[in-house]
Amino acid sequence: MKANSAAYIGRFAPSPTGPLHAGSLVAALASWLDARAHGGLWRVRIEDVDAPRCRAGAAEQILGQLAACGLQPDGPVLYQSARATAYRAALDTLQAGGWTYACTCTRREVDEAQAGGDAARPRHAERIYPGTCRDAGRDPAFGAIRVLASARSARPLAPLQIAWQDRRLGAQQQDVTNQVGDFVLRRADTLWAYQLAVVVDDAAQGITHVVRGEDLADNTPRQIHLQRLLGLHRPVYLHTPLLLGDDGEKLSKGNGARAIPMEEPLRAVREAAACLGLNLEAAALGDTLAQAVAQWHMRWMA
Ligand code: GLU
Ligand code: ZN
Repeated sequence: MKANSAAYIGRFAPSPTGPLHAGSLVAALASWLDARAHGGLWRVRIEDVDAPRCRAGAAEQILGQLAACGLQPDGPVLYQSARATAYRAALDTLQAGGWTYACTCTRREVDEAQAGGDAARPRHAERIYPGTCRDAGRDPAFGAIRVLASARSARPLAPLQIAWQDRRLGAQQQDVTNQVGDFVLRRADTLWAYQLAVVVDDAAQGITHVVRGEDLADNTPRQIHLQRLLGLHRPVYLHTPLLLGDDGEKLSKGNGARAIPMEEPLRAVREAAACLGLNLEAAALGDTLAQAVAQWHMRWMA
């Protein structure tokens, strides 16, 4: 794929595990508004790498819901299920640099090596990996492939601290070595991990600005690490507030997230906009979106 070089290219990258709900619409709308306010392009990428979690028909449903809400992607939709060759090439590059190793630990072994279980793990959070297999010389044909959470690949390894700037959250930093550990790029079941796929595809699509939910903010340092190792451009990040369910937790299927009804896109857009601190009064969808773009511009770009 040819890389783009436009001044602004944003994206919305849903996992097709179900229809768009009020929480995911916030991320969709915010990324669309930021692209429109910048006069840029808005891409949609279907993140269907985790095939067992994807639901048949969900991608089409999401695209239909976005269209009903007036959010039309610029250019073709990219499907991660068609991108294995690019992920393989990136993995080979990291492997050649001595950054990866095979790991045959089971989930339970990793859990037992640390306190706290699976209970309330946020989106794409990693079990802190103690490095058991790092120098064990496991056969890469079996097990997962991990990348070193280290500032260098030669021994002794060096702590990896990553500092970055978020447009909304301000200065951020993470001790990737101790808070995350060596993380998975390809799972033992041979599925590609989100962290690798997102970095390769953001670069391939020429994404300059990432706008997504705040629950993904702590994934950013892992992605910056991979961008550096692969020599890829780092996008500008903005992590949005999350829509909360009745129980005060992030909205999810478990606490009342329902699919956005196609018959009521205006209400859904208003609700998502309110979560983003916008206050919309227009009566028609097109006017509402135009008002939202103007308010977004004042808030984030003035
Ligand atoms: N597909 C990811 C998810 O739904 C989000 C990707 C991203 O915006 O970076 O969890
Ligand atoms: Zn291991």
